[in-house]
Amino acid sequence: MNPMDYTIEKFISEKEIKDKIAKLADQINADFDGKEIVAICTLKGSFVFFSDLIRSLALPVRCEFLGLSSYGNQTTTSGEVKVTLDLNSQIEGKHVLIVEDIVDSGITLQFILKYLEARNPASISTAALLSKPDALKVDVDVEYVGFEIQNQFVVGYGLDYAESLRGLPYIGILHLEE
Ligand code: 5GP
Repeated sequence: MNPMDYTIEKFISEKEIKDKIAKLADQINADFDGKEIVAICTLKGSFVFFSDLIRSLALPVRCEFLGLSSYGNQTTTSGEVKVTLDLNSQIEGKHVLIVEDIVDSGITLQFILKYLEARNPASISTAALLSKPDALKVDVDVEYVGFEIQNQFVVGYGLDYAESLRGLPYIGILHLEE
């Protein structure tokens, strides 16, 4: 990829992300008061959000990682979800919190919910840093949403473009040069 092929428009700042995570953590702390949760990081895009979110929680948290791929190197969804890394421990009877970077069509989250529900957790809920309500193609519930955004392709803070740009500390809108 040639870095001249795109520009990045600054969209959500580090401070805005930090403040939003503190608010989400307050809600999760209140809702799960006195309980242990298993937080599931959906790789790869969620790892930065996940790291910040779990450090803001005042609950006993176990961390699990679920590797998924749905996008390949494109900026539009293929609609096909593959598990590339499975959980390391059982979640039966546990309170599960799926931590997602972004819900676009909702197909990935719908897949994850079915995949995990089959393992009989005590409860299952989802935190997504970003959601694109206009892009939703399936009916999925997200209990904790950071920012609702328009139908734009965003990068940074864990989110990639062709595996690059995950390390940007803020969220930007990607503009591809024609
Ligand atoms: P969905 O299955 O909801 O259409 O897509 C979910 C996954 O697609 C996300 O976990 C993320 O990896 C990827 N994705 C969706 N929208 C964007 C976006 O705007 N930017 C990036 N970098 N990835 C996205």
